[in-house]
Amino acid sequence: MRYCSTRGGVQGADFCDVLFSGFAPDGGMFMPESLPVLSPDTLRSWAALHFSQLVVEVASLFIPTQLMPRDHLEALVMEALSSFSVPEVVRFAKLKEGLTIVELFHGNTLAFKDLAMTCTVRFLDYFLQKQKRRAVVVVGTSGDTGGSAIQSAKGLAQVDLVVVYPRGRVTPVQEKHMTTCLQDNIHVFSADGTSDDIDNPIRRLFADHELVKAHGLMSLNSVNWSRIMIQLSHFIYAYLHMSGLEGASADAPLPPLEVVVPTGGAGNIAAGCIVKQMGVPLQLVAMVNSNDIVRRTVQSGDFSMAADVKQTLAPAIDIQDPYNMERVFWLLSGRDGALVKGIMEDFQSSHRHTLPQQLHTVLSQAVSAGTVTDEGILESMRRCWEDNHYLLCPHTAVAVWHHYHTPPSAQLNRCYLATASPAKFQSAVQRAGLTLDLPESLSSLDKMATRCEGLEKIQWRWKSHSPSKPRFVKTPISKEVYSITYLRHYQSTILKVL
Ligand SMILES: *Cc1c(COP(=O)(O)O)cnc(C)c1O
Repeated sequence: MRYCSTRGGVQGADFCDVLFSGFAPDGGMFMPESLPVLSPDTLRSWAALHFSQLVVEVASLFIPTQLMPRDHLEALVMEALSSFSVPEVVRFAKLKEGLTIVELFHGNTLAFKDLAMTCTVRFLDYFLQKQKRRAVVVVGTSGDTGGSAIQSAKGLAQVDLVVVYPRGRVTPVQEKHMTTCLQDNIHVFSADGTSDDIDNPIRRLFADHELVKAHGLMSLNSVNWSRIMIQLSHFIYAYLHMSGLEGASADAPLPPLEVVVPTGGAGNIAAGCIVKQMGVPLQLVAMVNSNDIVRRTVQSGDFSMAADVKQTLAPAIDIQDPYNMERVFWLLSGRDGALVKGIMEDFQSSHRHTLPQQLHTVLSQAVSAGTVTDEGILESMRRCWEDNHYLLCPHTAVAVWHHYHTPPSAQLNRCYLATASPAKFQSAVQRAGLTLDLPESLSSLDKMATRCEGLEKIQWRWKSHSPSKPRFVKTPISKEVYSITYLRHYQSTILKVL
């Protein structure tokens, strides 16, 4: 199994190279050079597997045994998923009117990211120990990635973790999951600006190849292939559970399944598209909030950012740069690296691109999409509570809005990915007029000491226009200066920690 870049500039990388990088050196994203196909027989033989066992089966298709023997892989995955609060790891809630919720949020930080993050961090630690070296992980987060990475990596001897989150744009629980970690290998920054503002200097940081090499710099955002690889299991597991393959006759055709996904950086959607290409008959629905670039791209080929990221009740998907769409474009264009390079370079410099007709057609056949306003989020949360006494997180509510507006059909099984626990998003729950008992694991966070360093979107300028009182005043800085200032901050932190 070898990996290549979506922009055509890198080929033949192995799993280890890919695990330890962020973006590929040509600016693209890593993908397997070819995808294994899951035959109906294979799927039937997996039908009764525990989630952890399924993760092992799927990961073993992408990590050669020469790099990681099967028993090591098994031990790492089992250990990673053992801290989940329910024994089945992923749970299904079957509610009224055929509404099925796939609860992916039973990990340490109550969001789906824990599933792939805990496994990926274990893989990292495994290879670092084997190679007797260290790595610096840099993570920009819209809220959930940071906490999940910190809880997975805290205390590891060979990993330093730098996390930057947008101040005031994460919930109190998300913030606490990040700042209450006092271990020496964790470095947390709260920055002015949106999560997209934070991502820009991080991209630049990774463009400094010498720094990257010297400090073993890497990313754990869903840029990292290993996370997407683990996330394939979300879709395959949901498919196996929903499709009744156990005991089905060998020549019966595989029934299709529609999976509705709350979408931000499009990591889950990219994983869904990969699983579809591996032969699992999925229909994907990407649901977004008012930051609706993915919907516009799918529906009209309009891959362009809005001027600003809007703050909504579903902050983990307040994203205008859904970077995993690059993987989707690459897959659906028949792996056309030159085409993807053209699209992405245009998008990155002008923030807008109109997809080629052919690609747009294929995309709109593979994925459908919808946008939900804050009002719609509150409406789904209330309705689901009234009907079922089941509380949705606002992101899951974005997906479930689709259920209330597109009646289910008897011919098509359907499920909704639940990406976080409502307990992380209490103010949205209150806004919906609902209440929630805080789990003990969250209420105890309030009593814990915190640590983090602020990064401000201002600089101090010497102003002498009033001769009587010359003084330093705070002045806002441009996006460009901001990006460079942050870059320096990150660089100096990284130099300091090593
Ligand atoms: C990260 C996140 C998402 C978005 O996932 P993508 O795979 O990046 O689209 C959705 N919901 C929650 C709660 C998240 O934390």
